Amino acid sequence: MSLLDADGAPLLIGGDLRPGRGGVFATVNPATEETLGQAADADTADLDAAIGAARTAFDDTDWSRDHALRAHCLRQLRTALTEHAEELREITVAEVGAPVMLTHGPQFQGPVDDLEFAANLAETYSWETDLGTAKPMGIPSARVLRREAVGVIGAITPWNFPHQINFAKLGPALAAGNTIVLKPAPDTPWCAAAVGAVIAEHTDIPAGVVNIVTSADHGLGAQLTSDPRVDMISFTGSTATGRAVMTNAAATLKKTFLELGGKSAFVILDDADVVAAANYAAFSVCVHAGQGCALTTRLLVPRAHYDEAVAAAAKTMGSIRPGDPTSSGTICGPLISERQRARVEHYLDLARAEGGRIVAGGGRPADLDRGYFIEPTLIADLGNDATVAREEIFGPVLVVIPHDGDDDAIRLANDSPYGLSGAIWGTDPGRIAHVTAGIRTGTLSVNGGIWYSADAPFGGYKQSGIGREMGVAGFEEYLESKLVATAG
Ligand code: NAD
Repeated sequence: MSLLDADGAPLLIGGDLRPGRGGVFATVNPATEETLGQAADADTADLDAAIGAARTAFDDTDWSRDHALRAHCLRQLRTALTEHAEELREITVAEVGAPVMLTHGPQFQGPVDDLEFAANLAETYSWETDLGTAKPMGIPSARVLRREAVGVIGAITPWNFPHQINFAKLGPALAAGNTIVLKPAPDTPWCAAAVGAVIAEHTDIPAGVVNIVTSADHGLGAQLTSDPRVDMISFTGSTATGRAVMTNAAATLKKTFLELGGKSAFVILDDADVVAAANYAAFSVCVHAGQGCALTTRLLVPRAHYDEAVAAAAKTMGSIRPGDPTSSGTICGPLISERQRARVEHYLDLARAEGGRIVAGGGRPADLDRGYFIEPTLIADLGNDATVAREEIFGPVLVVIPHDGDDDAIRLANDSPYGLSGAIWGTDPGRIAHVTAGIRTGTLSVNGGIWYSADAPFGGYKQSGIGREMGVAGFEEYLESKLVATAG
């Protein structure tokens, strides 16, 4: 490894790569349960210094006004990350347990390439809009609306798609002219630390503009959320933690941007190819062992086709073997940790206790004696009120629920505290349009359409979040509006 010191991957604070004052903590390979190496363990003083550096870089430099510099730096970062792609992909597969196949897409290269979208916005965005002259209260006033950076961003991220989520915050936040303190999840410190090394050693991003603070202590997230020098929190993680973030941020009335959990519905209409749709739903929930917030984990099928859909989904899930993420054929790797596997197993116990039928999977793969693996699992014979149909499991687990027509499917899809994503399979365009309009959720896929791309805003209704990431809408989350009215 050349980017990281395996005995202590460093913090990035004020332009310096440095050790943590709290010592080091282990990062673990979830496919082997072996310790990969050590990451710097930041303490509260380290975070304090990182916030101070971000504040100074925002207040005392031209970064927020120099649009061309920011576009240059983002392009340089993209190039440097691509030059180190092999090593970064290796770290990602080892630390996240991400199938190597996905690192050519959303687990690494996709979000790196998306930095170009952010660079373009830094260059081409209309920072000023002329609103013309009006005469409020009889005084002729020439009005200009300016868009400016919010200031210091505290970014807090989870472990499941660390690069995608880190870059979906770094890209637009930097393009808009902010400075940032990134606190990644304790489960994936190396992914973030390696990016910190690339920034420090291979880009012109000025000192203090990006600070990366890894720590075993979740409390640092709370500290970042409470510090009055931070102007905005950009958070991705569970809904429960999102609530704590919002509560803590309220004391200093920070802008809070929240990307949270989901329990999305996959709706099969009765004019669809039910078997093809059920196969697709079953496959998609196994990708990255189901550790995706937007995965469709409730399969709603026409009651008359229930047995057919269950049989098809069970066959697909039974054929997907969890395995070594370094192998190019693997789509379902391990869960991130023993804690996460215990959580999934707890939900499988609950499904059984509530009368659910485990049609495929249901336990640990017999052929794997190491690694936090779990079998793709299909649960039938439960209603939408079952715990496994209401709560986010974050594993390769699909619950099949019958519906009694299009309006009943809409009702069931919406009968959830979440509203992050969803899918519809059918034939009749009018019926598809009706169901699309009825489901209250931030993204929808019709017949396998892909909503994910750099220019497409992503985010949740209801308890799945506040605000949108990616696209121009995601960029504008990181901007303030200043209206200047000049008399005359
Ligand atoms: P988590 O909520 O446990 O942790 C997320 C981050 O918050 C971590 O960095 C953690 O250290 C930090 N944190 C913990 N307590 C905190 C506090 N009190 N204040 C501030 N920060 C705190 O989530 P996780 O287990 O790492 O990730 C899985 C969750 O993330 C799932 O619920 C998933 O749906 C969600 N997620 C959402 C999206 C999205 O875009 N909507 C994307 C990926 C993951």
